[in-house]
Amino acid sequence: MTSSDTANEMTISSTLLDWYQAYARELPWRNPPGSPEPSDPAWPYRVWLSEVMLQQTTVAAVKPYFAKFTETWPNVDALAEASGDDVMAAWAGLGYYSRARNLVKCAKEVTARGGFPETEEELRELPGLGAYTAAAIAAIAFGKRAVVVDANVERVAARLFNITEPLPKARKAIREHAEQITPETRAGDFAQAMMDLGSSICTSKAPKCLLCPLSSACVARASGEPEKLPVKAPKKTKPERIGTAYWIERDGAGGREVWLIKRPGTGMLGGMRALPDDGWSAREDGSDEVPLEGKWLDLGAVRHTFTHAHLTLSLKQYHGKFEPAGDGKWWPLRKLGGAGLPTLYAKAARLALIQD
Ligand code: SF4
Repeated sequence: MTSSDTANEMTISSTLLDWYQAYARELPWRNPPGSPEPSDPAWPYRVWLSEVMLQQTTVAAVKPYFAKFTETWPNVDALAEASGDDVMAAWAGLGYYSRARNLVKCAKEVTARGGFPETEEELRELPGLGAYTAAAIAAIAFGKRAVVVDANVERVAARLFNITEPLPKARKAIREHAEQITPETRAGDFAQAMMDLGSSICTSKAPKCLLCPLSSACVARASGEPEKLPVKAPKKTKPERIGTAYWIERDGAGGREVWLIKRPGTGMLGGMRALPDDGWSAREDGSDEVPLEGKWLDLGAVRHTFTHAHLTLSLKQYHGKFEPAGDGKWWPLRKLGGAGLPTLYAKAARLALIQD
């Protein structure tokens, strides 16, 4: 590395930090730019929770969930005591449910250790924490120098340094460049500045280079086509899956009720409350949780896209007497909003209810 490279890298980080000081987004889990990390023991908890929630999820979608979680479980000790079912229900709708399954496990581990560890290496030992989250917590919660590379940082770095190799191979070069521009101090502010720049200015389509604080250092901008970077591997077509879910009602003592099951702990939507179905997700126990005989009425179908597949889920309503067996529960229709149904089954429930 030449001395001019080093000067350029220092200019990038200090320019970006100045920009962040002026334009940082105000977020409920964020410390104001330039201020020391709070000594409140709930601070790393809030950083951890927000980072877990933000994986593959937008800031707008996360905000109400973050508010609900921190009101219900204000610190890691409270979350460690929470029931897995309550946490899964509170997470319903946010998707990627393995994150929620790991939350209580991780909270228990942190409580047993007497608090969050501060280094990336130790943070990586916690359940559910990958390289990105460990680096983000070390930098943002504890002010450690850590190189934090999410999709936003990837995009900004690929363009700044004109890395034309396609992803995922480009990740090595992107990381090396991100490492070089990460400052010795304020690594947390720097990481969040890169994230803000990537989400508001250096966007996937039509980056706003005229507003960008780093435009004079940006090689892709000079080349004229920054929106072509990073080069992505062609998307694989998602497989189509089909399945059937069952809407089974009865008149209970307090009004109409619907039969809900709890899905097996592992696999798609594992551990979540759901409508019984035909095993579209390859249910392992092979149990018949619904009556196979009787009168069924077609209610239509809902479509849902998972990370790896599209699903068309038909919905049938049962007319007849049903004596349930298995891990399920009659749930009052008037309280269905509190059942914690994941989005797929919430859509199916809406489909059933609009037919009333
Ligand atoms: Fe992104 Fe344009 Fe800024 Fe380069 S100049 S980092 S392409 S917004």
